[in-house]
Amino acid sequence: MKPLWIGTSWKMNKTLAEAREWTSALVEKLDGRAPKAVQPFVIPSFTATSTVAQILGEDSPVLLGVQNAHWEDAGAWTGEISVPQAKDAGAQIVEIGHSERREHFGETVETTRLKVAASLRHGLTPLLCIGESAEVKDAGGSSAFILEQARGALEGLTEAQLADVVIAYEPIWAIGEKGRPATVEELVEPFAALGAEYSGRVKGLLYGGSVSLENAADLLGIEHVTGLFVGRTAWKVEGYLELLRIG
Ligand code: PGA
Repeated sequence: MKPLWIGTSWKMNKTLAEAREWTSALVEKLDGRAPKAVQPFVIPSFTATSTVAQILGEDSPVLLGVQNAHWEDAGAWTGEISVPQAKDAGAQIVEIGHSERREHFGETVETTRLKVAASLRHGLTPLLCIGESAEVKDAGGSSAFILEQARGALEGLTEAQLADVVIAYEPIWAIGEKGRPATVEELVEPFAALGAEYSGRVKGLLYGGSVSLENAADLLGIEHVTGLFVGRTAWKVEGYLELLRIG
């Protein structure tokens, strides 16, 4: 059985002191072992990447990621970081195409495709985020929309490359303070669509958006869901540890 991927992005949160505290507590509680059949991962801000890497240590059961990376290996791209730099800082995962980046930083299907390719080129796991707006959902277009985002970003990959990709379906209307948790009923169809195309071919099909200790077990019970990508609930390490236990 493939492990359930359960992880968090801290988004633009946590000082170094807070990052150290969260990570040290996690390392202490896990004591070198993830709960059986769970693949934990954490995606801090860039400033905390190497600090978190050091605390996790070599051969940690917890994978480390960055929230974005450019598709070029180096160059005149002020404000960006490259995949080789992310790798150098200890990252094993590159988060790509989160809806906040698509909305505020002009991420497109084309840039997500370039970033997926760059991550794979350097041996890092792309964590591709896809998700539709409330308008698209209300018009009944969720599945077609997310399939188009996924197909566009993963175009041209070999089966071996695809096997190293994790997809997180995060409906925009379900994310963050302004969002509301998706119900199991609402997720069955989009995951059926994603599952029909990608189940067994990718490393994981995750759900994200207002995951809580209350809804996590039900969300993991949806057919084709093989993990959770979590924001607020996991920013307190106790919340994250509880989610790992639920997995
Ligand atoms: P949230 O964030 O769990 O705080 O809603 C989810 C996400 O953006 O991945």
